[in-house]
Amino acid sequence: MTPQCETFRRGDSGYESARRATCRNLHLPDRYPDLIVRATSEADVVEAVRMAKANDWKIGIRSGGHSWTCNHVRDGGLLLDLSQLDTVTLDTESMTAVVGPGVRSNELDGLLAQHDVFFPVGHCEGVGLGGYLLQGGFGWNSRAVGMACESVLAIDYVDGDGVVRHASPGENADVYWAARGAGPGFPGIVTRFHLRLHRRPPVIGGRLAIYPLESLEEILHWAHTVGPDVATSVELMFVVSRRLPFTGAPGIVVISAAFADTLEQVEVDLSFLETRPPGAGDVPPFRVMSLAALTQETMAFLPEEHFHVVDNVWTHASAEQLLPVLQGIVDKLPPAPAHLIWMNWWPKLARADMAYSLEDQTYVAQYGLWSDPSDEAAVTSWVMDGMAELAPYSTGIQLADENLARRDAPFMAAANRERLERIRTEVDPGLRFHSYGHADA
Ligand SMILES: Cc1cc2nc3c(=O)[nH]c(=O)nc-3n(C[C@H](O)[C@H](O)[C@H](O)COP(=O)(O)OP(=O)(O)OC[C@H]3O[C@@H](n4cnc5c(N)ncnc54)[C@H](O)[C@@H]3O)c2cc1C
Repeated sequence: MTPQCETFRRGDSGYESARRATCRNLHLPDRYPDLIVRATSEADVVEAVRMAKANDWKIGIRSGGHSWTCNHVRDGGLLLDLSQLDTVTLDTESMTAVVGPGVRSNELDGLLAQHDVFFPVGHCEGVGLGGYLLQGGFGWNSRAVGMACESVLAIDYVDGDGVVRHASPGENADVYWAARGAGPGFPGIVTRFHLRLHRRPPVIGGRLAIYPLESLEEILHWAHTVGPDVATSVELMFVVSRRLPFTGAPGIVVISAAFADTLEQVEVDLSFLETRPPGAGDVPPFRVMSLAALTQETMAFLPEEHFHVVDNVWTHASAEQLLPVLQGIVDKLPPAPAHLIWMNWWPKLARADMAYSLEDQTYVAQYGLWSDPSDEAAVTSWVMDGMAELAPYSTGIQLADENLARRDAPFMAAANRERLERIRTEVDPGLRFHSYGHADA
C-alpha cells in the first residue's frame, strides 16, 4: 500500500477512533473489523482486496459513512474506508463528471454551481456519493431529472480478486445494472463514477407553511388530494416535530421546494398551495435560494452528534387509511430532533432497466434522533412500533433510509432481487463482499 495509506489493526491504539470515525451515527454497532484501511488511491484498494483474499476476510466498504445502520461496520475481516478517494473531474463541454466515492453531495454541488451545471445530489451535507449513488439517490429535483443513479453512465470498480474493471451498458453490463440500485448489496468496490450532468435550473427555492400539530388530519387529506398533480419540479413534503427549527415550537411544516426556469413558472407550479387548509400562521412568499442554503435548512432537522434509528415505508394507502396510524405516531412523537416525514413522490418518469425498481406514491419515514444515551429504548420503540403499524400499508422501503438489520422489508422488485443475487454469485463467487444487513450481519 502507498505510504500515505493508514491501517488500524484491532487492538491498536488508534483503532477505536478510526472505527468511530467511519460512522456519522453516534449509534455505533458493537461490531469490530480485524483491520481498517484508509485507502488514498485505487492502488491501495487493489492491495487491500488482495490482502483480504489472502486472509480469507470479507470486506465492508465505507465512502461517506452516512448509512444510518453503519452497514459497513461488520465483525471480523476488513473495513475499507474510501473517504479520501474524493477527486472530481468536470467536463462542462460534454456535460459529464468523474467523481470519487468519497466526494460529498454538497461538495459536488458547490463545484457544479460555479459552472452553472447541476446533478441531483442528496438533501444533506456530508452524504457520500459512494453509498448514495449505489442505492438509487433521491436527490434535489430527482422527481424531474430522475434518480441520481439514472445519471451514472459507467463505473470503475475493483472486484473480489483485486482486479480493476469498468462497467457500462457495453461492458460488464450486469455489474452496471447492479450499480444502479443495489446499494449495500453491490458486489464490488466502486472507485469512480462517470456521471451525466444536467442544466442547472435558473430558479431554485422554497415555500413553507407552518401549522399546529392538531392540523395533521386536514393536512394529510389535502396533501393526498393535491399530490398526484403536483408538478415533478416540486418537492412537496411535510415534517412533524415537537420543536420545528423555524419556530422552536411543536408543529407541522409543509415544505414545497421548486426548481424552474422562471419565477412565473414557480407561481404556476406552486398554485396548488392556494388550496392548502386554513390554520397556518403567516405564510411567507416563495424564497429564491441557493441549493446550498436549501440544504442547510434541511440539515436543521438532522443535526450531527446524535444517535439515530431511522426507518421508512413506501405506500399508496389513502389518507383515510394512514391517518389513524400517523396520528398514533405523532401522539407518541419523542422530543425533537426526532421527527416524522410524509413526502409526495408519485413517480412520473419511465425508469431504465436497473436494480432500483421499487417506489410508490407516498413516502413516510420516522427519524429517531436522541443525544442522551438513556433515551435509546424509548426512541427506538417509537420508530419500530410505528413501522409495525405502517407495515400493512407498505409496499416496500427505500434503501436510502434502510434499517434492514432490525426489520426486513422488500426494497427491489422480486425479479430484480433475484437477478441481483445471480449477479452477486457470478461476479463475487468467493463472497468477498458483505450483503444487506439482515442477510449476513
Ligand atoms: C443526514 C443524512 C441525509 C441523507 N439524505 C439523503 C437524501 O437526500 N437522499 C438519499 O437518497 N439518501 C439520503 N441519505 C441516505 C444516504 O444516501 C445513504 O445512507 C447512503 O448509503 C450514504 O452514502 P455514504 O457513502 O455516505 O454511506 P456509507 O455509510 O459510507 O456507505 C453505505 C453503504 O454503501 C456501500 N458502499 C458505499 N460506498 C461504496 C463503494 N464505493 N463501493 C461499493 N459499495 C459502497 C456499502 O455497502 C456501505 O455499507 C441521507 C443520510 C443521512 C445520514
